[in-house]
Amino acid sequence: MIKTDHISIQCPQCGHTEFEQPENVKDDDFVKCNSCHFEIMLADLKEVGIEQAREVVIPEAKAEIEKMLKKAFKGRLK
Ligand SMILES: [Zn+2]
Repeated sequence: MIKTDHISIQCPQCGHTEFEQPENVKDDDFVKCNSCHFEIMLADLKEVGIEQAREVVIPEAKAEIEKMLKKAFKGRLK
């Protein structure tokens, strides 16, 4: 299974997160989805993973920042 820091990369075709991969897989090797057999170059799969990580992380970060801003404004309104 290929993993980024915390989030598994999902197959762009079916959303499965396990891929067949050769040993010592390199960026220009192809990996194959265990579920739908979609083949993708590891470098491209990593790109997909980065995009997916952004979609997950940004809304959470935004909520945290909004919370912090609300607290900051509360303090000033006293
Ligand atoms: Zn798949």
